[in-house]
Amino acid sequence: MSDVAETLFERIIAREIPADVVYETETVLAFRDINAQARVHVLVVPKTRYRNVAELAAADAGLLGDVVLAAKAVAEIEGISESGYRVVFNTEGDAGQTVFHVHAHVLGGEQLGFFGRHGAGA
Ligand code: 5GP
Repeated sequence: MSDVAETLFERIIAREIPADVVYETETVLAFRDINAQARVHVLVVPKTRYRNVAELAAADAGLLGDVVLAAKAVAEIEGISESGYRVVFNTEGDAGQTVFHVHAHVLGGEQLGFFGRHGAGA
């Protein structure tokens, strides 16, 4: 773990803050984003905290695999495996990471827009 401060997601994992849990294993928790950006928008969070996906990959590739497999499970539960979905790890400032406990966004359930430079057209 790279820093000491507890984040909101530890409190969700500890069930101190309520969340709409979609899927859980021994190592990960998946719950709906409070500010959904698509019809399906679920966050997959490893129960052990790393700051971002780069730190997670370097420290525990198996746990990163658990996160990606959980994203697949969430897509199946939500019925979007076939229609398609996006898995996003926002990493640091320019990407808009706001919670420094690594998490995958699983987005789908409708046609998603392009992404990239702020304000850029398609
Ligand atoms: P980031 O911007 O760090 O990639 O993603 C953090 C995400 O956490 C945001 O999409 C935000 O809507 C979500 N979020 C922030 N606070 C809460 C909360 O209290 N509950 C849930 N379920 N999601 C939250």
